[in-house]
Amino acid sequence: MTDLLAVTFNCDFPPGSRVGVLTTQPLDRILDYLAPETGCSVGDFVEVPLGPRKVLGVIWGQGAGDFDAAKLRRVTRVLDAPPMREELRTFLGRTADYTLTPMPAMLRLATRAPGLSDPPSMRKVYKLGDDEPSRMTPARTRVLDILGAMSDQAFTLKELADHAGVTSSVITGLVKLGAVREEASPRDSPYPRLDPARPGVALSDAQVAVADQLRASIRTGTYGTTLLKGVTGSGKTEVYLEAVAECLAKGRQALVLLPEIALTGEFLARVEARFGARPAEWHSGVTLTERRRCWKMVASAEAQFVVGARSALFLPFRDLGLVVVDEEHDTSYKQEEGVLYNARDMTVLRASLCDAQVILASATPSLESWANAEAGKYQRAELGARFGTAVLPEMRAIDMRAENLPGGRWISPTLQKAVEARLDAGEQAMLFLNRRGYAPVTVCRACGYQVGCTHCDARMVEHRFLKRLMCHQCGETRPMPQACPACKAEGKMAAVGPGVERMAEEAAALFPKARLAVLSSDLFGSARALKEAIETIAQGGADIIIGTQLVAKGHNFPLLTLVGVIDADLGLMGSDLRAAERTFQLMRQVAGRAGRADKPGTALMQTHQPDHPVIRAILSGDEEGFWRAEAAERQAAGVPPYGRMAGIILSSPNVQEVFDLGEALARGDAPLRRIGAQVFGPAPAPIARVRGRHRVRLLVKADKGAPLQAALAQWIAQFKPPNTLRLSVDVDPQSFY
Ligand code: ADP
Ligand code: ZN
Repeated sequence: MTDLLAVTFNCDFPPGSRVGVLTTQPLDRILDYLAPETGCSVGDFVEVPLGPRKVLGVIWGQGAGDFDAAKLRRVTRVLDAPPMREELRTFLGRTADYTLTPMPAMLRLATRAPGLSDPPSMRKVYKLGDDEPSRMTPARTRVLDILGAMSDQAFTLKELADHAGVTSSVITGLVKLGAVREEASPRDSPYPRLDPARPGVALSDAQVAVADQLRASIRTGTYGTTLLKGVTGSGKTEVYLEAVAECLAKGRQALVLLPEIALTGEFLARVEARFGARPAEWHSGVTLTERRRCWKMVASAEAQFVVGARSALFLPFRDLGLVVVDEEHDTSYKQEEGVLYNARDMTVLRASLCDAQVILASATPSLESWANAEAGKYQRAELGARFGTAVLPEMRAIDMRAENLPGGRWISPTLQKAVEARLDAGEQAMLFLNRRGYAPVTVCRACGYQVGCTHCDARMVEHRFLKRLMCHQCGETRPMPQACPACKAEGKMAAVGPGVERMAEEAAALFPKARLAVLSSDLFGSARALKEAIETIAQGGADIIIGTQLVAKGHNFPLLTLVGVIDADLGLMGSDLRAAERTFQLMRQVAGRAGRADKPGTALMQTHQPDHPVIRAILSGDEEGFWRAEAAERQAAGVPPYGRMAGIILSSPNVQEVFDLGEALARGDAPLRRIGAQVFGPAPAPIARVRGRHRVRLLVKADKGAPLQAALAQWIAQFKPPNTLRLSVDVDPQSFY
């Protein structure tokens, strides 16, 4: 009978049958409901009642049947959205298993667009009307000409006004006269089609060889990963766009992940030049309605090409054929809050589930990807030189022990001269310092007191632009104190050490005629503002760029010919297992900003330890040598990528509580010992208090092949932490603070 009904309704579950629904609510189980009058099928997006509310969910399978039948409630309705495909359901499940994340959190990640349960909404668009206006003005003529010439386009009021260069009142005036018609059209409209057959730029021989290799991999129609390595400016983007073209030509969807949303302005323009239209965008800088449009169009395959930040990996693609992870070594691919996943690694997983190809592109790959290529798991593709006449910058160290610098100054005479030479030549110079704010420490010269955050074990950082002290852990700010909070001495508070704002001050004094631009993430209210600033600078709107690591990430500054690294030793001090790798990558990336166009560039690195092996590797450019040495060290230590790690972070307002559980975990490590894993800790985290919560860490180390997740789950399940305590598991941790 049930089967017959299912056939009649053409669905998995006829009305009234028991279904299991995964909701976005933080309940650690699938909930049982009754199928609605329309019936429903696995993967359907639904709305279900939960307590007094209606929440979003997905039909996950048959109901478990362990819930009192009399109390079962009915699915409210099936949403008008393409069902979640099996591939995505499997991907969410596998990511949850890998990262030890509850499924509802995974579903939230996959539905991060507002109004998915709302009926399709409408917006007003403008078309040519039937009547002629009695009086014409130049502005009116422009509007009517555009509408006449582009009759297949649907302009909103703002788009039309922008396009015609008129105020919106000109258009509303024409509507009143009947010369322009106002229509309602669905808001979530498809994206303009991209044309993969349009010719790309003429590629160099080396680029052709790599493009052929990538196209051939797309044609296999199966999973595979290629590590595309090439110095900045060698044409990696140009070449992987050829792979995108092949993928689109096959009728499959393509996704490019970028680490930094400020990159997209330049990137979108390049896609438009190549394919005749822009791709869909998915990142924090797009409006909520655009997000919903993107989500829906991806699901119905009316978005062929998406460029986005890491969470774009969880969009409901109908037929994903290629994912490019650009700047694959970038640490921002690891999400450090909520679901602790690494988008680069999960990309490889998703691609393997949907027969897609992956391209990991970087000038300085992560040791993880390098090791996978060495082991033959990834293909390699390499672009050697920079395209055209652009050559790699010359790299030199400035030995700070030999520079006579007075206290409170950080730009050495040697660097100063080099900057002056660029200014005289009408070129741009960059000063790089990876420290936000004015000074990292504020200290009382009378009593030595350092201003710290009241909620965190962290120093407050002076931000002179904002005229405030700020905690970089919790974001708390407070006014700069006039008197020392401890000894009450007036006017004794002093800045110690440099931040980018202080560099700007020093540069202004040394180079009074130069136009300065400071690029630091906290100085821009929005991603869009930052994007605009970068574009202005690229066009020559500044002579000296002073920036944090924000500037290292692939922006094109064609006029830039000198990069000065203020403190090349900064990253080497940490105890982080990746300190050497990170410094190597960052320094090479920053240096790569110089000399992109037709002028050769120079990178000067101020260092107190010019003989440090990492500094020497950076200067010599012997990358393979560096990777081999680094790989050998990690192998000997049994750490990633040659061993596995997981971090456990316990936090609570109650310090006793975190140590009690930490010690209990350490004692109860039998499930871990069974797989040969070791537990270290508990120990106070390097930042032992954040936002008023005390933090304790444990570290688990296991062999590469060990079934780590299963053991971790068993281990943690032995304990029931108090409600005030938060326990998070970070598999493959990148950050150890
Ligand atoms: P990467 O991604 O490796 O940094 P890009 O693809 O951004 O390199 O190329 C660097 C610059 O060189 C860009 O401005 C790009 O347009 C240009 N370029 C690269 N290859 C070619 C080519 N074959 N023809 C014309 N311009 C090219
Ligand atoms: Zn704080």
